[in-house]
Amino acid sequence: MTYDVAVIGAGIVGSAIARELAGSHLSVALVEARSDVGDGTSKANTAILHTGFDATPGTLESRLVARGYHLLGEYAAATGIPVERTGAVLVAWNDEELAALPGLKQKAEDNGYHECELVEADEVYALVPALGPGALGGLRVPGESIVCTWTTNLALATDAKRRGAVVLTGHRVGSVTAGEQHTTLHTSGGDIEASWVVNAAGLGADHLDSAWGHRRFTVTPRRGELFVFDKLARPLVPLIVLPVPTSRGKGVLVSPTIYGNVMLGPTAEDLTDRTATGTSEAGFEFLLAKGESLMPRLLEEEVTASYAGLRAAIDRPDYLIDVDPADRYLLVGGIRSTGLTSGMAVAEHVVGLLTEAGMDCRLRPDLPPPPQMPNIGQAGVRPFQDAARIDADPAYGSVVCFCERVTAGEIRDALASDLPPADLDGLRRRTRAMNGRCQGFYCGAAVVACLERSMAPGEGDGRG
Ligand SMILES: Cc1cc2nc3c(=O)[nH]c(=O)nc-3n(C[C@H](O)[C@H](O)[C@H](O)COP(=O)(O)OP(=O)(O)OC[C@H]3O[C@@H](n4cnc5c(N)ncnc54)[C@H](O)[C@@H]3O)c2cc1C
Repeated sequence: MTYDVAVIGAGIVGSAIARELAGSHLSVALVEARSDVGDGTSKANTAILHTGFDATPGTLESRLVARGYHLLGEYAAATGIPVERTGAVLVAWNDEELAALPGLKQKAEDNGYHECELVEADEVYALVPALGPGALGGLRVPGESIVCTWTTNLALATDAKRRGAVVLTGHRVGSVTAGEQHTTLHTSGGDIEASWVVNAAGLGADHLDSAWGHRRFTVTPRRGELFVFDKLARPLVPLIVLPVPTSRGKGVLVSPTIYGNVMLGPTAEDLTDRTATGTSEAGFEFLLAKGESLMPRLLEEEVTASYAGLRAAIDRPDYLIDVDPADRYLLVGGIRSTGLTSGMAVAEHVVGLLTEAGMDCRLRPDLPPPPQMPNIGQAGVRPFQDAARIDADPAYGSVVCFCERVTAGEIRDALASDLPPADLDGLRRRTRAMNGRCQGFYCGAAVVACLERSMAPGEGDGRG
């Protein structure tokens, strides 16, 4: 068939766009190179729902982050995506940073965010008693929140599928043939024809863009490495502790995670290899030195994991979203370090551009309700804590992963869901299994057995 629209890239941005478009009468394909949705940059970030207080005023990014903050906040409440409204404090460690705080407050106001408040050093320590010595003052940002990036991506892609989008994982777009009426995407999973194409390929967006003859931007993978500390560290970090941002980015923060841990990071290192998601010795040393001055007490706690993500940085200071009606093509590029927050607003913006280009994107009246996502956040009630649920279905009382308290019922549900995991990593993102302090040492074999059983021929794993 020829789809009305093919969206390339099933990260948060592409999934949000596919969801929005699939809510209309259009036929939509969500085309993803990897074997799962949300397996690119969207799975490895700092997972903060940004207010956009520190964006550059007047940019498209500033507008879409502010809008996305509200859209994702509302969508999370409707779907059960875990969010914790922790708030943040931005800390000044020297006179120069202290002098910058009033300007940052003004910047927040210019971005339409009016809740920031300058605080003295003693108030900073009252908020975060474990902070290292030397803080001179701070800026409170009460709206900054933590969110589950994995559930966000999965909810958006699941919603897109339930609204009728066809999710094609394992389809890497290699080349493109533009025709009079439709475009053919030549993918590793076969050809796909579509009238319109939206390029939301993240780190690969510039390469794909050149298939339409453009040479307008280059993606530089900017690696961010992070440490995850054990849950025992969580009381040390009741809210997000931010540094004063620089031209290089938002800097190294200490933050609670939605799974009850603490994270320290990210670094910011420009690379050439777009697949370099490994961590490095230099990154570790840098983070340990940062942690030592930010919160020495934190370094006494155990690190349970480390990971790295690649920001799709581009050679211009704003998002690059551009529609080309003659070629029936739309580019979404340079969604660097704010795309988790802005994704739904980017989708809204894209639909606006497509509507202006003549596409009928009006929502259908018969939309399915938003999916109800399993809660994998630490703050909400998890199945192992829910006596009534266990009474009704004992699988929710049968714990498989003890560090993270993941039950057989949750693993079974994930394997039978609309978008089941393709591998262990996908199962981790859906359930938290193997993500705890033992990193699968004790539960690994049992979790693998669940996955293998569901994939065995004749088991009817609901894949598709
Ligand atoms: C260290 C770090 C910290 C961050 N912290 C935050 C934060 O706290 N808050 C926030 O809002 N944002 C944050 N971000 C940014 C956010 O994670 C990204 O902006 C967002 O995930 C981008 O989503 P995406 O869909 O554009 O890209 P991706 O998630 O990378 O999705 C693009 C998809 O396209 C696919 N693809 C690529 N090429 C092809 C092809 N040829 N054919 C088919 N498919 C293809 C890829 O496989 C991938 O799945 C952070 C990023 C990093 C790296």
